[in-house]
Amino acid sequence: MKAQPKASHYIDGDYVEDRAGSKIDVIYPATGGVIAQVHEATPGIVEAAIASARRAQEDWAALRPVERGRILSRAAHIIRERGRELAELETLDTGKPIQETLVADWPSGAEAIEYFAGLAPTVTGETIPLGRDFVYTRREPLGLCVGIGAWNYPSQIACWKAAPALALGNAMVFKPSEVTPLGALKLAEILTEAGLPPGLFNVVQGRGGVGARLVTDPRVAKVSLTGSVPTGQKVYAAAAEGIRHVTMELGGKSPLIVFEDASIEDAVGAAMLGNFYSAGQVCSNGTRVFVQRGIKHRFLDRLKARAAAIRMGDPMDEATQLGPLASEAQLEKVMGYIATARSEGARLVTGGGRRPMNSGFFVEPTVFADVTDEMTIAREEVFGPVMAVLDFDGEEEAVARANATEFGLAGGVFTADMARAHRVAGALQAGTTWINAYNLTPVEAPFGGVKLSGVGRENSRAAVENYTQVKSVYVGMGPIEAPY
Ligand code: NDP
Repeated sequence: MKAQPKASHYIDGDYVEDRAGSKIDVIYPATGGVIAQVHEATPGIVEAAIASARRAQEDWAALRPVERGRILSRAAHIIRERGRELAELETLDTGKPIQETLVADWPSGAEAIEYFAGLAPTVTGETIPLGRDFVYTRREPLGLCVGIGAWNYPSQIACWKAAPALALGNAMVFKPSEVTPLGALKLAEILTEAGLPPGLFNVVQGRGGVGARLVTDPRVAKVSLTGSVPTGQKVYAAAAEGIRHVTMELGGKSPLIVFEDASIEDAVGAAMLGNFYSAGQVCSNGTRVFVQRGIKHRFLDRLKARAAAIRMGDPMDEATQLGPLASEAQLEKVMGYIATARSEGARLVTGGGRRPMNSGFFVEPTVFADVTDEMTIAREEVFGPVMAVLDFDGEEEAVARANATEFGLAGGVFTADMARAHRVAGALQAGTTWINAYNLTPVEAPFGGVKLSGVGRENSRAAVENYTQVKSVYVGMGPIEAPY
């Protein structure tokens, strides 16, 4: 087995195996071959993970933030030192081209860890004067947080959740997607090597049932999920039972609006990045590309030429630009959406087929034009390399149609008119909007959704709100004025 971890789970500072749990095959999406096997967590494993996290958390929270930050900084350093080895593992786990995993996945995770390591000592309370008396506030950790990840950016997601949780004094039990179980184990191993005390970051494997068990445990204070809207709805409801804190990073169907005065080359480049990177398996993708009618043909001509030139192939080859989808199930889902788009009357501009390479789950970069708002491909999240191009005439119309969705994760606008750019960016109902750019998510900026795309924010100072709670301490400075 090419990528077999030492054991399935990571608890209390070490790998742990329990073969009683059902077996999960880890498939390399570029070949369909099994590269590792892990076992689903049994109730005993879940209990051990939760109990050890609870034991460890109070002492961790009592450390000076700068000491917690020092350990996390060391972990970020180790991730950077092992960049190639980790990128190769991520490519095996997800099928994403090494060209991407070398620069996007673990490097983005390391940045989150660095960022929160530095931020931790700056998180303070305030003093509120009340004449003679006063109140001061303390930002306290929540306690035990559960992280549940999706399969598209497994290591980045684990880092984005672990970094603020740990930096701010919490412990975390993390469950990766069953499709991509390997990266989170590496993160746990690296954190231990960096000096993180045992129990503070535990990883348990499993399908949705294991996630559900974690979410409903009374010792859990917070749940942070990255996943689809239907899963988010279930997990949010389950967390509500115990009035737990939640961060929900869910799916999207984001609009990218291209006005006639935009640089066509830049807009085409952004639309491609926002639909084909990671084989289109990015939550914030601009999968509804609204193009103003006057530039439609020029836009589509350049898009077709550039999409057809994308290099697909062996993800381990650094020249490869587009790899397979993460799983066979996702391949079938995406091919189903392509068939539906054709049957509903969308015009196929390029792609549309499978590339049967080494039995991997490859789909060609696909562009549909003449897409209308009612078509399935314009309403549902495809999560594959499939772009829908829609026409529009005016700004108001574009904004109204862009917002006519239950999702609200992201959106973009391309135009040379800066007043219009800010007007549109402000009017789009989304957690993140880009002007003359797309899909850049630096750790310094808040990231998250509105409407069905989620609640809470990851990254940036905004995440402090989601991993701490405020305590008010009232200080009485004089005699008690009791009326009796
Ligand atoms: P899913 O919603 O299928 O799964 C997400 C995670 O939740 C998985 O680990 C899954 O386990 C687990 N899970 C499933 N059911 C339950 C349950 N009842 N209780 C607790 N946990 C459960 O998402 P995918 O993995 O298919 O990921 C794709 C989705 O993620 C897309 O919709 C995408 O937009 C979204 N996403 C959002 C991002 C954001 O930041 N907004 C970023 C990346 C992706 P298992 O897989 O083992 O069943």
